Amino acid sequence: MTERRQGAVKQITSHSNPIVKEIKGLVSQRKHRSQSGLFVAEGLKLATDALDAGWTVRYLALGPEARDNPVAQKAAATAKARGALILEVSTAVLGAMTRKDNPQMVVGVYEQQLLSADQITVPGSTVWVALDRVRDPGNLGTIIRTVDAVGGAGVILVGECTDPFAVETVRATMGSLFHVPLAKLSKDAFKGLAEKWPGTVAATHLKGSVDYRTPDYRDPVLLVMGNEQKGLEEDLVPACQTLIRIPQVGEADSLNLAVATGVALYEIRRKHLEL
Ligand code: SAM
Repeated sequence: MTERRQGAVKQITSHSNPIVKEIKGLVSQRKHRSQSGLFVAEGLKLATDALDAGWTVRYLALGPEARDNPVAQKAAATAKARGALILEVSTAVLGAMTRKDNPQMVVGVYEQQLLSADQITVPGSTVWVALDRVRDPGNLGTIIRTVDAVGGAGVILVGECTDPFAVETVRATMGSLFHVPLAKLSKDAFKGLAEKWPGTVAATHLKGSVDYRTPDYRDPVLLVMGNEQKGLEEDLVPACQTLIRIPQVGEADSLNLAVATGVALYEIRRKHLEL
């Protein structure tokens, strides 16, 4: 039987406390997040999502408002029982941790979770989204949230991507980060995966000749999306069976990446979704 560590409660009043400095570093520096394998998520909803989904919490910082909030107290009790350190802090200390004037009443520090290539499972009726060098944290967070909404299996980050554990990305996921598996693959590892993929591998492309509403998408679908500025890397095109395009009228060159992902996902998942 695994022995679980019992957490503790600590009061912090000083902005220069080492834990406050550590959390500040996690908020502002990707290097710090990668080295420690930790990240910060702000807000009670995200804390509840993380705990419900079984993510490991290292610290849960509670501001004064959280002390009379039953949901926050329940989250703190669960986190403490699972070994987290509960920090009771002032609003000013919460603001210093998150570099915000109006911080949320709860700030959590969690262990990152990423799947390795061999953990990308392809159960029958599902869709994975692969993002080629996604740069914008808001786009990535919105895509993770949309994959969650359509019941997708997960998101694969291909090549040099923005950090999925950056505060802006986590915020844009609205909690879906804790429910959508993520994997990071090199371009070559992705090509290997796409070549062996048992269902349809469809890439959205501005030069695609196939209307995205016409293919008979075979589950599991792998939907591949290009970079915001450069589109899909040429080298990845041969790994995709079909290049689909979303029709446009008007003067816009293209759709925003997250919007294009949402439009394509809802078509791919049409027969699986109902009110
Ligand atoms: N300048 C880039 C290009 O030439 O591809 C624009 C990239 S667009 C902002 C980002 C990604 O969104 C594209 O690589 C593609 O995956 C998807 N996308 C945007 N609009 C699309 C459309 N109308 N049809 C298919 N894919 C689209």
